[in-house]
Amino acid sequence: MEKRNQLYEGKAKKVFATDDPEYYIVSYKDDATAFNGLKKGTIAGKGVINNRMSNRLMKRLEAAGIPTHFVEELSERDTLVRKVKIVPLEVIVRNISAGSFSKRYGIDEGIAFDEPTVEFSYKNDALGDPLLSEDHIQALKLATKDEVALIRKYALAIDKFLTAFWKDCGVTLVDFKLEFGKTSDGTIILADEISPDTCRLWDSATGEKLDKDRFRRDLGGVEDAYAEVMKRLMAHE
Ligand code: UDP
Repeated sequence: MEKRNQLYEGKAKKVFATDDPEYYIVSYKDDATAFNGLKKGTIAGKGVINNRMSNRLMKRLEAAGIPTHFVEELSERDTLVRKVKIVPLEVIVRNISAGSFSKRYGIDEGIAFDEPTVEFSYKNDALGDPLLSEDHIQALKLATKDEVALIRKYALAIDKFLTAFWKDCGVTLVDFKLEFGKTSDGTIILADEISPDTCRLWDSATGEKLDKDRFRRDLGGVEDAYAEVMKRLMAHE
């Protein structure tokens, strides 16, 4: 498939048209942002790792019955994906308290929940991605009730699958963010990426953070952490 004009440049990826209107090419960058774009930097080699990791995980999810946008890895940074219209929701699944959850509710990080939680934010940078109740999603007409129910079902199935997968790699899946999209026939599929940019991943033995929190919190060893989780994923295959 031929790469055509650039349609969009996001914080971590560019999106290109192709010669087929049903497909896009996403290209992963090394750029990193945090705190709604306030903190900016680069993480050398991140684009290559996130591209490969996300593709491998989506391939496995697809095999486990979750529809995804993944079609084919074209190069170390470029992937062919199905064209979707992104549902403007950030779908966050949490297994253990951390980040904005701990801040919002005033509890320590690292407290394991009895059951995973699913929450939705409005994907809107200008507003700072505000938290949404399911009623708010209907009121704002961001998705239908049935779509939200399906997204929630997929999100929990993805959590179950990824928690087990990462556990086998000696990594604890703390929380993560998903985005879903709609194909031209209205089917909801998993889109965006699954990577250390979008997941909190802690070493199961030491609790060491192996994700973007190393960048957000200036902990150092950012590149090494991304390389370490990638190495563990590859060793699992
Ligand atoms: N997350 C993300 N993009 C966002 C917000 C959150 O990928 O715009 C991920 C984040 O990496 C973490 C999970 O979603 O794995 C939960 O993030 P949280 O709500 O705690 O927000 P944060 O503390 O990252 O601001």
